[in-house]
Amino acid sequence: MTPSIISDLSALCLHTITTKPWSIEEAARYYSEAGIRGITVWRETLQGCKVHLTGQMLRDRGLEIVSLSRGGFFASANKVKRRLAIDENRRAIDEARDLGTGMIILVCGADPAQSLHESRKQIHDGIAAILPYASSAGVRLTIEPLHPMFADTRSAINTIRQANDLAESLDSPHVGVAVDVYHLWWDPDLEEEIGRCGRNGNLAAFHISDWKSPTADMLNDRGLMGEGCIPLKQIRSWVEKAGFKGFIEVEIFSNIYWAQDQHAFLQNIISSYRKFA
Ligand code: ZN
Repeated sequence: MTPSIISDLSALCLHTITTKPWSIEEAARYYSEAGIRGITVWRETLQGCKVHLTGQMLRDRGLEIVSLSRGGFFASANKVKRRLAIDENRRAIDEARDLGTGMIILVCGADPAQSLHESRKQIHDGIAAILPYASSAGVRLTIEPLHPMFADTRSAINTIRQANDLAESLDSPHVGVAVDVYHLWWDPDLEEEIGRCGRNGNLAAFHISDWKSPTADMLNDRGLMGEGCIPLKQIRSWVEKAGFKGFIEVEIFSNIYWAQDQHAFLQNIISSYRKFA
């Protein structure tokens, strides 16, 4: 990606969770007015909406709906919960289709009541179970490996190597992998595995933010680009070298930023994206 693409914002996408206090209508209006062209919609923001109308509203604002976040949570020691997760993922696929996006981000799940090995097996089987439904809806299931600090309850897929192994074993154009710098920046195999992900056609999404040092909250203290210790430009160069040409998605969960004026925050996102992405 050339520097001009960074400065003209044409590759910038925002996750609606980043500006959590805004409704989907507010997010659409203010992102669009700021010159942003991509949006990833979190399912929470769709509650009470007619999803196909929301999709149309976003497109009318000139926004491309990059993905729906999120599906997953396949792993559970409880068989009934595993079945309910499959049903919930089918509903997410319906929503993605109605919204008009071809991708769902998967946070794969984990259950501290069982081994990681067992959770990983259930994740594989869960994705395999919904894959035919996703394929017929034209929706790609994109596996997002999560930092190992979330291996107890959120995801037993913790490295890009594991995500690559899983995607390759499922072997479908409707399965992909998301590289989220917040989860993966520490991995000594990152460059090599991003390359492998691209070579095998699985590199589907690229999420950015920063790792603040110290971090005050494991979940909700992500930093703006440039505010922490993630070598963002370096990781972006690996992602581009691997052939990725999609949106650069800003995904920041932050109690601090959510408490601020969201208009000022949006301007900060844009300037830190231009400077540090
Ligand atoms: Zn992410």
